Amino acid sequence: MASDDAIRATNDEASMCKRFAVQQGYWNDPYIKYFIRSSDRKPPDINRGYFARVKGVHCLLNQFLQATKCKCQVVSLGAGYDTTYWNLQESNMQPERYIEMDFENVTSHKCHFIKSRKPLLEKIATKDGEIRFSKTDLHADNYHIVAVDLRNLIEVETKLKESGFDNDIPTIFIAECVLVYMESEKSNAIIKWIADNVKTAYFVNYEQVNMGDRFGHVMLDNLRSRQCGLPGTDVCQTIDTQQNRFTSQGWTSAEAWDMNTVYSNLPQKEIQRIEKLEFLDERESFEQLLHHYCLCWAYIDGAGVGLENISV
Ligand code: SAM
Repeated sequence: MASDDAIRATNDEASMCKRFAVQQGYWNDPYIKYFIRSSDRKPPDINRGYFARVKGVHCLLNQFLQATKCKCQVVSLGAGYDTTYWNLQESNMQPERYIEMDFENVTSHKCHFIKSRKPLLEKIATKDGEIRFSKTDLHADNYHIVAVDLRNLIEVETKLKESGFDNDIPTIFIAECVLVYMESEKSNAIIKWIADNVKTAYFVNYEQVNMGDRFGHVMLDNLRSRQCGLPGTDVCQTIDTQQNRFTSQGWTSAEAWDMNTVYSNLPQKEIQRIEKLEFLDERESFEQLLHHYCLCWAYIDGAGVGLENISV
């Protein structure tokens, strides 16, 4: 179980990096401070990398919400302390149902923060003011946090049902640095379950890629030393394997870009703004870093809402 504890701890690291980047002005997130009070300084390449990650994922999510006119569900796999649920309210783009899943050790902390911090609690929509909390789970009208081990599909199905998940409503699944911590057999099982059970689905996956070179080996060794084994990455070493993991499990189409490509396709005005925030002396090492992460998106468009048009 030591490795599971290390996996849960990756949420602290991601949240702290996001907190610091927000503090530096890379993007706006008025809610992250309620989960992470403060963070140590992070280097500019890490901040820019997180900017590209958050903007890339949100760019796909926003297009999905527009395509479905918000008549949809969002399922965030391994959500950690993600604040998207609250930030979507700021932009008046709320889906009908927002479900977050993570290990109970993470969800229990998140539930505690929500219960005890009014700015978080008061934004959770309820008709009758009732929010059902257990130590690890939260159920409100359109927001659900559930404790689950994503490697256990029966548990995942049960928790989705408890959250009112509707297989017929267009649903976007988001996994931001999550599948990489699971054996490929287990991540494939979730990917296949969605393809078999959800009529209209979109998947956004962000994680490490191109691990075959020297830089990649250093990253892998680093992750392995912390996780006591990182089984998932063996199948997803290239952009092609990232795409194939979806198309081989029944998805209509999938596309993956390394983060250099994503970065250069983000709105140029935004890029110019953030590149002025901090001086980056080693452009080459930043590009190396981006080369080792990717954004992959896949869809099955049973309802014909135009999911094939959504890309960065
Ligand atoms: N997605 C969040 C973000 O980007 O800020 C958190 C990312 S963090 C690197 C990975 C998250 O996935 C952690 O919160 C971890 O607990 C969760 N996770 C990894 N494997 C999981 C599993 N088998 N079941 C549930 N949660 C898992």
